Amino acid sequence: VSTPSQTWTEPGPEQVIDGVHRIPLPMPGDSLTAVNVYAIVDGAGVTLIDGGWAVPEARSELGRALKTIGVSDLRDISRVLVTHAHRDHYTLAVLLRREFGIPISVGAGERPALEALAGRTSRYGAQVRLLERAGGHDLARRVEGVDSLIEADREGWELPDSWLEAGRLPSGPRTLQVVPTPGHTRGHVVYANTADNLLFTGDHVLPHITPSIGFETVPAESPLRDYLDSLATIRALPDMRMLPAHGPLSPSTHQRVDELVVHHDVRLAETVDIVDGLSGAGGTAADVAAELRWTRRRRSYDSLDTFNQMLAVTETVAHLELLAHSGVLVADRTEERITYRAVAS
Ligand SMILES: [Zn+2]
Repeated sequence: VSTPSQTWTEPGPEQVIDGVHRIPLPMPGDSLTAVNVYAIVDGAGVTLIDGGWAVPEARSELGRALKTIGVSDLRDISRVLVTHAHRDHYTLAVLLRREFGIPISVGAGERPALEALAGRTSRYGAQVRLLERAGGHDLARRVEGVDSLIEADREGWELPDSWLEAGRLPSGPRTLQVVPTPGHTRGHVVYANTADNLLFTGDHVLPHITPSIGFETVPAESPLRDYLDSLATIRALPDMRMLPAHGPLSPSTHQRVDELVVHHDVRLAETVDIVDGLSGAGGTAADVAAELRWTRRRRSYDSLDTFNQMLAVTETVAHLELLAHSGVLVADRTEERITYRAVAS
């Protein structure tokens, strides 16, 4: 049964196979509209893959959807396995744990980000600093000025009960394989149920969009290198049905991975072209981001809101750093800023 892409956000569970259900939960006010939580129901209990965003609408929709598949109460959830520590995947799980004691597991690589988020330190200090060095001073000031980016969602950031490494998790009659896929975040993991040919891809592989790279509380050294390596990891697994966190189910993880690899190849080539066109001293990531086109609609940088400009600059940094590290471009680094220029011919 194929689900038209327009309707994947429609409330109500969709059965994937016997005992596995996709449950879209609302994300009010967010352009992504909804996040898929997956319920695996078997003799051993109810496992959720991802927890949703801690808003009342999502909590009530989760309860309602679980009832329709025979799980009468939220307290019947036995655990939540989270793909990564972004609010739309993690924070509702924390609220459910407070209420019912339901344990949460997340990839071990999320520890630095979650420790920063669970603390009360400046959340996006590292991001603001990164934006400044990328030449986005004005943008950094605007990001600091938007309370919802820096301070909001204090609610729901606590450490998990367990940190997951690569390995196997029994799930009733099934086995889930935990596969670390750093890139979108440092500790992103996907869950493979190879016996049923299902791959819960979180935000690592999404059907319609490319996940943001390099936007993190505690950024990795080379998030795009990590991300491309993690795409190769998925390509080396058997081709499975894709169960993404945003968007409809689709038949082939391999096909989408191939498209994403092409997307980043094109993006890297566009980035090199822009830097080649800059005069002598080159330019910052913010200069390059302003020349690139954004989203599938190829929007101009200026037409993006502050949050998306931040994602655009951090994404551009990720591409430029990969190119600089592989010797395609030259990076000139000072404490204040990093500029990129063509390799002298
Ligand atoms: Zn997400």
